[in-house]
Amino acid sequence: MADPRSRRTRSGRTPSKKTKKRHTFIFVVGGVMSGIGKGVSTSSIALILKSKGFTVTALKIDPYINVDAGTMNPTEHGEVFVLDDGYETDQDMGNYERFLNETLPELNYMTTGRVYQEVIRRERNLEYGGKNVEVVPDIPLEVIRRIRAASHRANADVTLIEIGGTIGEYQNIIFLEAARMLKQECPRDVAVVMVSYVPVPGSIGEMKTKPTQYAARTLNSAGLQADVILARAPVPLDQKRKEKIATFCNVRPEAVISAPDVRSIYDIPLNFEKDKLGDTLSDILGLPARRTNMNAWQRFVRASKQGSRPVHIAVVGKYFDSGSFVLSDVYLSVLEALKFSAFSLDIGLSLTYLNSKDFESGAVKLDTLKKFDGVLVPGGFGSTGVEGIIKAIGYARTHRIPYFGICYGMQLAVIEFARNVAKLRTAHTREIEEHGTELVIDVMDDQKQKLESNAYGGTMRLGTYPCVLLASTIAARAYGETRVFERHRHRYEVNTNYIAQLESAGLVFSGVSPDKRLMEIAELPESEHPFFLGTQFHPEFLARPLSPHPLFTAFLEAALRGKKR
Ligand code: GLN
Repeated sequence: MADPRSRRTRSGRTPSKKTKKRHTFIFVVGGVMSGIGKGVSTSSIALILKSKGFTVTALKIDPYINVDAGTMNPTEHGEVFVLDDGYETDQDMGNYERFLNETLPELNYMTTGRVYQEVIRRERNLEYGGKNVEVVPDIPLEVIRRIRAASHRANADVTLIEIGGTIGEYQNIIFLEAARMLKQECPRDVAVVMVSYVPVPGSIGEMKTKPTQYAARTLNSAGLQADVILARAPVPLDQKRKEKIATFCNVRPEAVISAPDVRSIYDIPLNFEKDKLGDTLSDILGLPARRTNMNAWQRFVRASKQGSRPVHIAVVGKYFDSGSFVLSDVYLSVLEALKFSAFSLDIGLSLTYLNSKDFESGAVKLDTLKKFDGVLVPGGFGSTGVEGIIKAIGYARTHRIPYFGICYGMQLAVIEFARNVAKLRTAHTREIEEHGTELVIDVMDDQKQKLESNAYGGTMRLGTYPCVLLASTIAARAYGETRVFERHRHRYEVNTNYIAQLESAGLVFSGVSPDKRLMEIAELPESEHPFFLGTQFHPEFLARPLSPHPLFTAFLEAALRGKKR
């Protein structure tokens, strides 16, 4: 059998005589330690290059075996970000979409598991033509194939590829190998950015560059040389440290970029531009020199610092505790969505994270909620902390505090309303009470079989679906439209057998699927409550800095109105 790769270059390109569009690639890797903002750095570079008029796309590679991020425990992994096409990814994909103000496809996210799954699938289909399929080069070749495919799909001048983890880890070596192979094939089209950490140890009080030097050498041992080093540090880099890093890490002095801690991640692209990162990268990749136009972003950042009208929102969730630390990463997109709407309304937003389990144990009294202008309950799974959330929702409903529930936050609001208003005293969700008698939230029909056969991975109702809005409701007014598209991630839904009962008790289903079988938005009339609304979908995934989400905006407007009263 003929080798299907025979007419191709090593990375799977079919040579063509026509002059083709030039695709360039920037790999972003981490040195010294994790958690220093590689995702935000990647997003910022993407924004800068887009602001120069280049077509840009961004990919994330996660080194774990999980085929997607969907099966991981939120407190372990952080937020699962759902793409339009339903792929469950890492929160960095959310940052890329928000900074780029673009929708990214599944192709832009891969894990070790996903790559191996594809290689094994192709091997089983005899697509390797009887060859010995090997970790090297076949795995990096599949990685390169995906990178190129994403770049072509976006017709991108520049494709950013963020490699998860830190240089020197065993796990991501195969992805560094992909970067090396791509660079060997087209040296002028590939640049490497290393995001490193430059500590100022308290006991010494001096900025130390040695860890960064070691990281640069470790990168060298993978056959790669950093072209740019983003020096993350508690404070700005001085000239002396810049020169030292340039000399010992073998990069141009202007390619050592100071990346001090900042108050807001949205300042970062502007800071990078102070050091002319966009020009340096354009020069390294041989891209035409162009001016950077970040006017809209600058206006957004300016608005983010003003906020003269204070609003206090309580976010009641069940995934905040991580050892002795409070973790808000799990709800990242929700928190960002709140901020974007707040900035657009000149609101100085303060967020308080309340662990619903504390309402159950009594560690926090329910009436602490009275000092807030609004209560938000984000998505979740399983039984822990749920009764605490239901109590909090009941408090917000009866005390007329604006309430916004997302996914689980909508389902639990329906349960609270069913129990306490519609007099379905034992109302519950099948997720928690499999054999309950008043299951106002039930498993979706097509999910039953999946659950029975333990088919959990990537099988929820995922991604974008249409939702038809009922005229003259809070939802319809907020959107100003009759039909919207939103992203989903759930297995359970409002049980249609209870709709008549819930409606006659006063609940309004203001958004439904076009076939009217799935309740997408539930709300109370404004005559009953200033703002009590829940969505089965996740509006936070579509909130962007430059276009805040109308429902988050409507929620905060209600919070403001409540203050005035
Ligand atoms: N656990 C609920 C369901 O699966 C809600 C999911 C969510 O909040 N994302 O339907």
